[in-house]
Amino acid sequence: MLIDTHTHTNFKDFKDDYQEVIKRALDNDTWLINVGAQMSTSQRAVKIANEYQEGVFAAVGLHPIHLRDFVVQEDEISYISRAEKFNYEEYKKMAQNEKVVAIGEVGLDYYHLKDRAQEEIDEKKEEEIKEEQKEVFIEQFKLAQELDLPLIIHCRDAHEDLLDILGKLKKDYPNARGVIHCFNKDLETAKKYFALGFMISFTGIVVFAKGFDWIKEIPDDKFMIETDAPYLAPPPHRGERNEPVYVKYIAQKIAEIRGRKFSEIAKITTENARKFYKI
Ligand SMILES: [Zn+2]
Repeated sequence: MLIDTHTHTNFKDFKDDYQEVIKRALDNDTWLINVGAQMSTSQRAVKIANEYQEGVFAAVGLHPIHLRDFVVQEDEISYISRAEKFNYEEYKKMAQNEKVVAIGEVGLDYYHLKDRAQEEIDEKKEEEIKEEQKEVFIEQFKLAQELDLPLIIHCRDAHEDLLDILGKLKKDYPNARGVIHCFNKDLETAKKYFALGFMISFTGIVVFAKGFDWIKEIPDDKFMIETDAPYLAPPPHRGERNEPVYVKYIAQKIAEIRGRKFSEIAKITTENARKFYKI
């Protein structure tokens, strides 16, 4: 058994065939967690999870890129995704559904600061956006603590600030739990998260990119696997739409790096995910 701990069959990319995609996963003994990125996709993650007896869960949260308007490019059409304000009570209500296993995805994204819609970004503006991301992250961190749920954290070009914030918050909330999703930095940074009691999870990036030998150095109980579908499809499906059942390629690659059997990595990552998300 495998668990795709971070996937988006709740996104538009799967609107016509999410049931087939999920069936393929479940038929292949693969469970999944659909992760929301704003109100609409969080609601949809909850709705889909409730259509299944077993194996399909949801996370709800407001992703940092949805705090501002930004241009989305899709199939040669571009449109503006409108900014959303974080509404604590609305998210709390959604998160109380029994299929919701985490608050996410939330976090900091300094990489996408530049591609805002019709906005000139100078340094002052950049600081303002970063501050706003931090504030909304902290509110969602507190929501997770109130509901005793783990956090699914997105972090792009912002590890220094994220570690700083988590280090401070941990003093008041020693039991806080979370995972840095799509982790692709390095061993040193991973160890800093482990020291704070956080985990990391790996996507197809570790299959198609180089430089992940350090994965053999991390403890068995500190990592999980995910597809982040529809993005980041691993070979042999690179360039196609990704889907939960492809999480096996990530387990395979990690088995190869760690010199272990596929079945052992499947067992370890599944146990980690079941314990972490209480599923
Ligand atoms: Zn994601």
